[in-house]
Amino acid sequence: MTFHALLLEENDGKVSAAMAELDDSRLPAGEVTVAVEWSSLNYKDGMVLQGLGRLVRDYPHVGGIDLAGTVEASDDPRYSPGDKVALTGWRVGETHWGGYASRARVKADWLVPVPAALTTRQAMAVGTAGFTAMQALVALEHHGIDTGPDSPLLATGASGGVGSSAVLWASAAGHHVVASTGRLENADELTALGAAEVIDRAELAENPSRPLLSERWGSCIDAVGGDTLAHVLTEIRYGGVVAACGLAGGNGLATTVVPFLLRGVSLLGIDSVMCPADHRSVVWGRIGDLVAAGGGAKLDSLITEVPLAELAALAPQIMAGQVKGRVVVNCAT
Ligand code: NDP
Repeated sequence: MTFHALLLEENDGKVSAAMAELDDSRLPAGEVTVAVEWSSLNYKDGMVLQGLGRLVRDYPHVGGIDLAGTVEASDDPRYSPGDKVALTGWRVGETHWGGYASRARVKADWLVPVPAALTTRQAMAVGTAGFTAMQALVALEHHGIDTGPDSPLLATGASGGVGSSAVLWASAAGHHVVASTGRLENADELTALGAAEVIDRAELAENPSRPLLSERWGSCIDAVGGDTLAHVLTEIRYGGVVAACGLAGGNGLATTVVPFLLRGVSLLGIDSVMCPADHRSVVWGRIGDLVAAGGGAKLDSLITEVPLAELAALAPQIMAGQVKGRVVVNCAT
């Protein structure tokens, strides 16, 4: 049997992508073979497609850090042919061939059943970005947040994958959400997703010279890092909490201990890649609950669908922060 894949090759240090028809014998080791229906485009996928960050050491390579589809064959009792499954993280798409193919072979431990309320396409509208946003929300709620108009939950990078998902999940969960974006032309869409207010990211862009500014946010799901995160920390209310998810605006963090000492601010790190399996079930369970409660149409509104063969052209756009919402990749055809 054969399958098609967006195959990455490296020549003279330059990575190129082209569609290829491959024999099944090329699939890596794993207990479960999945007929991949959908994958998605995440920031890290953009890096892999462009050969940045040395995330991939062995070529030829198949990227795609997440995938959803139907089990074709399984040597593991937890999965049977026909089961709908999804995968995010575990460095799949980096150290193991990933979702940018019509077939994948993976470890059973890496898979989760797709929640009953979601299609496999919606599972990849969630994908790594939406999973991470929900992981952040679960972490904030576990810490304890009280979000109302006086103490809003701020979502940064709100037009992007993690940020738009954070707006969707947090508002669907009943929190008062303020979305920060550099693309105010998307404000109506962010409001339709559930944002109570949309602000210009320029308000948060500078690292202030003072260690504390007026209290403005009860909590934050941050996809941007850098000076934006440093700024947000100075504006978090007493006892507030920030979930740091990303570094779209830089991986530095020049801050002071003052917000932590004088306002009791907490900074939580979010890692979706090695998130333990039992916690993944909690996060996917919450996603399933919010979609079952009516979030499905809003989740669908985030989707831009692209065929696998046209994906590579979008890599520079996601690296430049120009992609909106969630790019869902059709891998089946
Ligand atoms: P996207 O590119 O979809 O979104 C990032 C958004 O950040 C952009 O859409 C833009 O939103 C904003 N942005 C981009 N550049 C800048 C800048 N220079 N300064 C301020 N804002 C900027 O990426 P994702 O949402 O998929 O990922 C976001 C980050 O989260 C990435 O760093 C990614 O690596 C990380 N990530 C981490 C995970 C984890 O496990 N911790 C998992 C998934 C992603 P706008 O135009 O609205 O301002």
